[in-house]
Amino acid sequence: IERTLVLIKPDGVARNLSGSILARIESKGYVLAELKKVNATRDLLEQHYEEHVGKPFYEPLVEFMLSGPVVAAIFEGHRVIEGFRSLAGTTDPTTAAPGTIRGDFGRDWGLAVQQNLVHGSDSADSAEREIKIWFGE
Ligand code: ATP
Repeated sequence: IERTLVLIKPDGVARNLSGSILARIESKGYVLAELKKVNATRDLLEQHYEEHVGKPFYEPLVEFMLSGPVVAAIFEGHRVIEGFRSLAGTTDPTTAAPGTIRGDFGRDWGLAVQQNLVHGSDSADSAEREIKIWFGE
């Protein structure tokens, strides 16, 4: 069965939106397989965001992800990877479609990083890689 890694980023946790966000994913029909609240480390984030190392937003992104706890979850279901990305909406929360998590709960706060509430794996390979990083084998 397909799996994806979902992160509720520090903005979502700090704004007490974890329950609302998880409820939307469950209501869509995906199954929660694992769930935990974690304080990420720089080392873990460097692995998670390895494709972005060196980009201008990389350091602000890591600082943001270290600014508070995140909620990490594994959701399961047929086509859950694309299904969750569709639920999440596009990267920029200002223009993410209403009805999506980012579109309904997020906006641009004028900061160096897009505080956009959630992360979801973008392919089956990334999902397996990211699940290992956050949950181990
Ligand atoms: P995610 O991978 O987090 O689900 P995504 O695929 O839409 O979102 P990526 O391009 O993988 O976004 O970038 C990872 C994260 O880095 C984004 O979710 C956002 O928080 C931040 N980010 C991406 N591009 C920018 C940018 N141009 N300026 C500021 N922050 C950015």
